[in-house]
Amino acid sequence: MIQDLHAHTYYSFCSQDKPEKMVETVIAGGIQQLGICDHNYGVGCARTEFCWDQGTKLNADYGKTLNRYYDHMNMIRDKYSKKIKILCGIEICTLKAKDSYTLPTNADVSFFDFALIENLDHPNSITGGDLFAYAKRCGCPVGVAHTDMFAFIESRGEEPYRYFRKMAEAGIFWEMNVNYDSIHGFKSHGYVSEFFKNKQQQDVVKKSGVRLSVGFDGHIAAEYKPDRVKSACKLIQDMGIRLAFADR
Ligand SMILES: [Zn+2]
Ligand SMILES: [Zn+2]
Repeated sequence: MIQDLHAHTYYSFCSQDKPEKMVETVIAGGIQQLGICDHNYGVGCARTEFCWDQGTKLNADYGKTLNRYYDHMNMIRDKYSKKIKILCGIEICTLKAKDSYTLPTNADVSFFDFALIENLDHPNSITGGDLFAYAKRCGCPVGVAHTDMFAFIESRGEEPYRYFRKMAEAGIFWEMNVNYDSIHGFKSHGYVSEFFKNKQQQDVVKKSGVRLSVGFDGHIAAEYKPDRVKSACKLIQDMGIRLAFADR
């Protein structure tokens, strides 16, 4: 199974490509399962009349725009259903620094196939570091995006195996983010390279039963690197670790 569960489209303001362009690029790269998950703050504005300068007013129609986005992605899913399996997700900013970035507390995301949580390990995260409570609030399967979970777990004074085991029981997966593009200054994630060479970490994750996901976090179709996605998927499965939604 080759999956990429983290792709952006023009619904994210840091991305310009149409969903079709993203999907076709991913298909051409040989990916079998794609998770589109735009930033909630792009989707919530839905590139329409609700724009940045309306500030917190946009929250009133947040639900409507989330639905509209979901419907659009469902159309895309149907359009390409013979070529690729598409899941419709959303990437949730949990930073409370800027009002219009954070997902409003009353916004319903439970109808999405999954949600990726970002900034879990940030001191200003509205999760307060409580992954399990926030996952419950989402009401859909949740994954942790681009976070060094071993460092996060240690910072909470918890034991890695037990924490990952709890994640597995709650159906929360952990993303291996293999991004390498200009949007992120061609930086790669240290926790991912560490995990791929650290046998001890691999054993903990494997025994816990927690699932991993692979995401390129693509924002620009022209900079997509399917080989990074493929090799990460292969490495994980060779370790005997299951990918999130591998059975879908
Ligand atoms: Zn992110
Ligand atoms: Zn992202």
